[in-house]
Amino acid sequence: MDYQRILDEIEQEVRPFTSQGRVADYIPALARVPADKFGMAVETVEGETFSVGDAAEAFSIQSISKVFTLTMALQFEGDALWTRVGREPSGNPFNSLVQLEYESGIPRNPFINAGALVLADVVLTHTANAKASVLDFVRALCARSDAGYDLDVARSERDWGDRNAALAHFLKSFGNLHNDVDAVLDAYVHQCSLVMNCLDLAKAFQYLAHGGVNPLTGQRLMTPSQTKRTNALMLTCGVYDAAGDFAYRVGLPGKSGVGGGIAAVMPGHWCVAVWSPGLNAQGNSLAGTQALELFTTKTGISIF
Ligand code: GLU
Repeated sequence: MDYQRILDEIEQEVRPFTSQGRVADYIPALARVPADKFGMAVETVEGETFSVGDAAEAFSIQSISKVFTLTMALQFEGDALWTRVGREPSGNPFNSLVQLEYESGIPRNPFINAGALVLADVVLTHTANAKASVLDFVRALCARSDAGYDLDVARSERDWGDRNAALAHFLKSFGNLHNDVDAVLDAYVHQCSLVMNCLDLAKAFQYLAHGGVNPLTGQRLMTPSQTKRTNALMLTCGVYDAAGDFAYRVGLPGKSGVGGGIAAVMPGHWCVAVWSPGLNAQGNSLAGTQALELFTTKTGISIF
């Protein structure tokens, strides 16, 4: 398969659409990112990499980080985690308060904000320094000892994060946060501010294509069964309220973030990451989703 030629073609076809999306502005520090960026990288399970455009430019991964904290939370708590978080698509915006009230403080899934706040709480409970532990976890996945937090983005989100603060207090009132609300919010905004590029992400997701083993270190991070289930959760809940459309168009488990990144997995074959900051109405990268749709169409490879 000539992945490089396919990526080059996709860049040509998709570039004109980068201006059609809307850069997230509810976190002021994200609003400053130029909308015309486009990068894409593929890493095969054999370790070959292909990339195009701004694939080496770092961006704020935002909710993509929730996949990493889910993996850590499963390592710490195993199936007991599912007494505190559900596994169904939400059918509501990712930061909805209403659903949490109806469902008595049990977030629908780990990838909506309420669910990710519970994951951050679990990581806080089990580590001496949650921010350092998440960073170490991600650095080991992408072999980048300089992967780090963007403190401006973290501060900006904390300053403008009243809705997440409301969700956290709500969770606490239902007994579903065990740590101090401010500590959980601080850990959460830092994980969201992680800065990575498409090449890093296509590498960092490799354990999800390798049955739960980090191929760089040989370390098992999850059982094959947990890996299958994490991929299933990405397919059903990974792209906000657009999971059905994304499965229909792209056909891969994937996780998006409001920074405009999407990372996706074809188990046993490759991981692919794309970045274009302009978002569609559901909050996913507009050109990024198109690029992934073209990728599975042109390669003829998807989980379906
Ligand atoms: N930090 C963002 C928030 O909590 C993450 C949203 C996202 O990327 O989905 O609103």
